[in-house]
Amino acid sequence: MRLFKWCTERMPCPWYREGVCTSPILESPSNEPVIPARCLGDQEIYRTCRYYREPGDTVKPYRPGFFGKPLLLIHSLTNIPRSTCNYLVVEKHESGCYLAACKVLGRYLTRYEVYSCETKWEDCPFRKVGQRTGPTK
Ligand code: SF4
Ligand code: SF4
Repeated sequence: MRLFKWCTERMPCPWYREGVCTSPILESPSNEPVIPARCLGDQEIYRTCRYYREPGDTVKPYRPGFFGKPLLLIHSLTNIPRSTCNYLVVEKHESGCYLAACKVLGRYLTRYEVYSCETKWEDCPFRKVGQRTGPTK
């Protein structure tokens, strides 16, 4: 029990990824705000960071038509994706699932695409387009 408590308390900040802060309030992921003692510290510590946001706080209500019509079979998500890219928008659908959309592509993303956004955002070609031309939505 004690070990379990220690493990849960030492979970790093959810916005911390391999030395980079991916907070949704940053223009783009950056290592500048990173202070290892804070980012890798207890919840009580990283929650005091001015770049920290509760992951659920970034979820928007579903906006019918804004990103087109979602096909729940391929677009619905059971968990909130870890928004490593500032062009990723998460909405809560009326059915209870989550939807992720890309502000550059202007449409909902499939589960497979969301996985790429979470793990390979740095190499995403659409991200580079967004940085050059700005979001479409
Ligand atoms: S503690 Fe602050 S700087 Fe560190 S990863 Fe979290 S939000 Fe970013
Ligand atoms: S497709 Fe690319 S630009 Fe769009 S949200 Fe995903 S990583 Fe970001």
